[in-house]
Amino acid sequence: MALSPMMQHYLQIKEQNKDAVVFYRLGDFYEMFFDDAKTVSKELDLTLTGRDCGLSERAPMCGVPFHSCDTYIAKLVENGHKVAICEQMEDPATAKGLVDRQVIRIITPGTVIEKDMLDEGRNNYILSLLTHGNTVGIAFADCSTGEIRAGESTSDNSVDFIINELCKLSPAEVLLSDEFKAIPEVISTVSDKLHASCEFISGKPDRKLVLRHFNAESFASLDIGENEAAQDALSNLLSYLYATQMSGLENLHTLKIYNNALFMKLDASTRRNLEITETLRTRERRGSLLGVVDKTKTAMGKRMLRSWLEQPLLDTVRIDKRLNAVRELIERPSDRAAVRALLDGMLDVERLMSRIVYGSANAQDLLGLKNIIERLPKIKKQLEPFLSNLINSLNDEISPLTELCALIDSSIDEKAPVTVREGKMIKAGYNAELDELRSILSNGKDVIRQMEAREKEATGIKTLKVGYNKVFGYYIEVSNMYKDQVPDTYIRKQTLTNGERYITESLKEWESKVLGAQERVSAIEFELFSQVRKAAADRLAPIQTTAGAVAALDALCSMAEVSAKNRYCMPDVLPDSGVIEIKGGRHPVVEDMRRDEPFVPNDTLLDLSDNRTMIITGPNMAGKSTYMRQVALIVLMAQVGMFVPAASAKIGVVDSIYTRVGASDDLSSGDSTFMVEMKEVAYILNNATQRSLVIFDEIGRGTSTFDGMSIARAAIEYTSDKIKAKALFATHYHELTELESQLNGIKNYNITVKKRGEDVIFLRKLARGGADQSLGIEIAKLAGAPKSMVNRAKEILRQLQESEIASVSVSKRQQKKEVEEIEDDVPMLAFGESKNEKAEDILLQLKAINVDTLSPIEAMNVLYKLCKNAQDE
Ligand code: ATP
Repeated sequence: MALSPMMQHYLQIKEQNKDAVVFYRLGDFYEMFFDDAKTVSKELDLTLTGRDCGLSERAPMCGVPFHSCDTYIAKLVENGHKVAICEQMEDPATAKGLVDRQVIRIITPGTVIEKDMLDEGRNNYILSLLTHGNTVGIAFADCSTGEIRAGESTSDNSVDFIINELCKLSPAEVLLSDEFKAIPEVISTVSDKLHASCEFISGKPDRKLVLRHFNAESFASLDIGENEAAQDALSNLLSYLYATQMSGLENLHTLKIYNNALFMKLDASTRRNLEITETLRTRERRGSLLGVVDKTKTAMGKRMLRSWLEQPLLDTVRIDKRLNAVRELIERPSDRAAVRALLDGMLDVERLMSRIVYGSANAQDLLGLKNIIERLPKIKKQLEPFLSNLINSLNDEISPLTELCALIDSSIDEKAPVTVREGKMIKAGYNAELDELRSILSNGKDVIRQMEAREKEATGIKTLKVGYNKVFGYYIEVSNMYKDQVPDTYIRKQTLTNGERYITESLKEWESKVLGAQERVSAIEFELFSQVRKAAADRLAPIQTTAGAVAALDALCSMAEVSAKNRYCMPDVLPDSGVIEIKGGRHPVVEDMRRDEPFVPNDTLLDLSDNRTMIITGPNMAGKSTYMRQVALIVLMAQVGMFVPAASAKIGVVDSIYTRVGASDDLSSGDSTFMVEMKEVAYILNNATQRSLVIFDEIGRGTSTFDGMSIARAAIEYTSDKIKAKALFATHYHELTELESQLNGIKNYNITVKKRGEDVIFLRKLARGGADQSLGIEIAKLAGAPKSMVNRAKEILRQLQESEIASVSVSKRQQKKEVEEIEDDVPMLAFGESKNEKAEDILLQLKAINVDTLSPIEAMNVLYKLCKNAQDE
């Protein structure tokens, strides 16, 4: 037995698409066979049946109706599959022999354009990465919106750079060149952190394809002339897109340069910790900065605002442009409201255009496009009085597109169905031939009645009827009683119990005209609809530019809306001042989420000299973390070009924000909580610059007190003294406040609380000076710990405080050990063979120390002074 020809063809297609589920079109269904059928029937809960395939056993099979395949494909793609669509390329009714079938597209997570498979509020990127030495080439596209970018960056630590870029762009699919197989951190970021699909690309990148695609003579004309890593990343990206999409890539027609040096550096954990677009714990939008500031009206605006928040700017000219636009929108509330009303309900034109270009848009989509275009002249008019540069240039980028609007208006029927092959899409009056055929069809009933009357009269058969059924077409029915009166011209077609059905030459003639008309109407309608769709596709470039401008306008209006409602102020963003001076700053999210409790504003002063580092102490729950994050968020918002939650703010541009916050472990990468913490600290200390803002929310809590305190202190010293970055440091090690008197640039602050009897009142106010109390036990009580446990904790604390023996003996043992170690080190550290006066002086100081009475922190301070003294030589 041999496989049937169709099955042989199927297996050939499957062989060419081994890593995809093949949707094989058979009539009104997409069928899957063999292993694909077994997998998919389980995943999609479909009935597994079988089909004769020429072999003794039937081939396992399952299928989905072609008109509702999107939801099934969406689920498979979401589960990480690729889906190869194998379509009938000819009409099976007219095909001779085996119907021609071909794969017309492979749908992958990063190449989806169907709206039901996409999250409207975020881009769906496919990203290509490769390295040339320590230069990383990066190219990415969103096939659903038409965005395509490429760039490269040279970095000493390209793995960190790549991980940060991956976390920023959060692609759905990543194409990695082969060398990444040896870099597990990158692969695990793609698969485990981003849950993105990962493809390895081998072979030489096809640069000529890039030039062909963009119709460019050279890479110089694409502005990536010198950047070979960027060219190759882009080549890999386009090769993959051509291999999977096969057509419809015209929407990726304008290459934009991706220069990450234009943006504030935010590493992956800082993005997470600051909860910019999603919360740390539940990864929800609500509770994040985006959740508060996103009041956009369109999907395009939503995506734009999100990408602005993800990429704060460094260039104050661009920042000021946005700020001035927001200010003007705030100052013109009624114009803003009118623009927002026009944006409300506007369809996602970027994604609509991708479907139009790909040829999958229907008539309702074109009506959606018309609806958008109709609003454009009104939006333009509404923007006319505005003076800000950005709003004026956005207005210039919005094309009125009146001709296209008129074309859709005159051609597409408002009640058009979502199918495109069954007619009822084109308006009456648009095409003469169509109108004529339609009139034949609609007058059909009258023609039949007239024919019936004529035949009745000619034959004298009163009960004669002209009817229609799908099998026989039109017929004349005569009951048995009048059978003898039937003329010879009638041809018998069907015998019924009570009568006979006949056809005549003239009835057949008319039938073919009517039935032909129906087919012709559908064909003409599809043809006309396709022409209109093509006319829209031909306007891709101005429509994309318009969509981009509308998106930016929506994002600006949203920022203005939120600023007005939440009493945000316009920050003064300065390029080189190095100063962050915030008066009455608030945390945008805490303030928004907890409206029942008034948010207590606080000031901030950080600069490049006396106020580089703020050491912030205060009991648990006082508000230290909130305060530090609010400073970071205000800086970030200012550099996005947003108003900020403060009474006033002067923000000297920072090149990066780093945060080390809370405890988390990363079991997937095999790191313990403390290891994660130390890796984050090390990363910050190795990467922060004098222009950075660093936030340390506790360091060294995951190890013994002395260990932790030493690490914390050394980290502050390093950040403040060596890097000279601006830093906020929250700690429960009150001993660290001694640093203020020992190092320049450090200032102590505490967040105040009041104790009234047993109760704690959180004042939330930042004050100068260190805190002197910890309220851990009170917080445990507030948190609902059992009363007896709380009482026991108080008792132990009292005992510890009162019992000299216990505490002193522990500390002495420790001290002794530490001092012994210190003493071992001293000769090497400071003196060597030197006999100068300073050495004498230091020796004298050493002799004066009574080791037995020193607390650990005092010991460290003494050692610090001694070392400093010695090194100052
Ligand atoms: P811990 O040391 O235990 O980590 P913490 O000092 O960092 O505590 P936060 O987590 O910042 O305290 O704040 C605790 C809660 O106090 C926050 O969840 C917030 O609801 C509230 N809070 C903080 N700051 C303010 C403020 N300025 N105004 C009003 N409420 C605030």
